[in-house]
Amino acid sequence: MSKRRDPRTIAVNTGIATDSAFGAVTPPIYLSSTFSFSGFERPRAHDYSRTANPSRDILANTLTELECGAGAVVVSSGMAAVDLVLSLLGPDDLVVAPHDCYGGTHRLLSLRRDRKHFDVIFVDQNNEEALTAALEQFPALVLIETPSNPLMRVVNIRAVTERAKAAGAKVAVDNTFLSPALQRPIHLGADFVIHSTTKYLNGHSDVVGGAVIAADKTDAEILAAWANTCGVTAPAFDCYLTLRGLRTLFARIERQQITAMKIAEYLQGHCAVAAVHYPGLASHPGHAVARSQQSGFGAMLSFELAGGVSAARRFVESLSVFTLAESLGGIESLVAHPATMTHLGMGPEARRVAGITDGLLRLSIGLEAESDLIDDLKCALDAAHARAHDVHENSLMDPLEPLASQS
Ligand SMILES: *Cc1c(COP(=O)(O)O)cnc(C)c1O
Repeated sequence: MSKRRDPRTIAVNTGIATDSAFGAVTPPIYLSSTFSFSGFERPRAHDYSRTANPSRDILANTLTELECGAGAVVVSSGMAAVDLVLSLLGPDDLVVAPHDCYGGTHRLLSLRRDRKHFDVIFVDQNNEEALTAALEQFPALVLIETPSNPLMRVVNIRAVTERAKAAGAKVAVDNTFLSPALQRPIHLGADFVIHSTTKYLNGHSDVVGGAVIAADKTDAEILAAWANTCGVTAPAFDCYLTLRGLRTLFARIERQQITAMKIAEYLQGHCAVAAVHYPGLASHPGHAVARSQQSGFGAMLSFELAGGVSAARRFVESLSVFTLAESLGGIESLVAHPATMTHLGMGPEARRVAGITDGLLRLSIGLEAESDLIDDLKCALDAAHARAHDVHENSLMDPLEPLASQS
């Protein structure tokens, strides 16, 4: 083979015009659960779709190439992808995970620890002392998530990976927030890349899926065998849709991050906004590291409204282009209020420690016109700001405490 193709070409071109039966340009979807043997004791390349399916193979091959890995396993959700990596661990093993990792990952790690499947410690990987103390316990796996959710904290993948490997650990990076279009953890030393393909890779908010890409061929084979054993491989139809979404990954995220930067700058200049968390801003504490390890700053950001929860409520209720919903990475812009949505289960004290205030809002920037998004934010900020001055309303309405205490 000649020179490695540009990732944009890989995303668009993998599997195109490979159909030998009819010359279909778009690879067909293979919904069949089973495949005929060509004769007695003569299986073909595929025999049963849980184990392997041609539609899933094309998606796996594309992801392998995009993440510069040796193989990929495509599974039924992002959580199944995280769990697949955890399947490599045993009861004597320790996992070092980020203190502010994705909520579902935190729950999975904690419940498996409670069942003695392995041990876990959660650390702030930007805290030198905490990281050193954790690595001195010789973990088997270090999990990295950067940028983090919802505060967009950035972790230096190469630095943490070098130290983790020196301590004998394998390193897995959850690359969901950026996608291989903007960050390639295997190039930075990681052993595994985890994706919730639900987010940017599919990009259209109509599939739940996940994938693990391994840097090493043997690791990829072990994971594929376990995914087949547990039956967590993704359905063919989901793979077809995800591949269709992945074709436009670069075009989408490149446009989305231009709009995100404009929105971050707009928010930063607004008097109702107390802080903006976007690694693309020079004032962001992770800006330099993000610049060094990412090829773009992405399209996720969060910001703090002055005026707490009642301002957040006014803001959200005044939006009309942004939709109030969990998830991210789709073509449509979404807003989430972590304290009452994604991070409600943490409880008020843990949220306070993590820095997730009641006025924090997270935005996933889509493909709408920048002018409409900014107009929408402007309207909602004006509404939130007007009421933020109403001390009387603020003191009367605080629905967070009763809600949180139930969880
Ligand atoms: C959404 C998400 C997951 C979980 O993925 P699902 O597809 O919802 O199971 C894991 N990690 C991160 C960073 C996510 O955003």
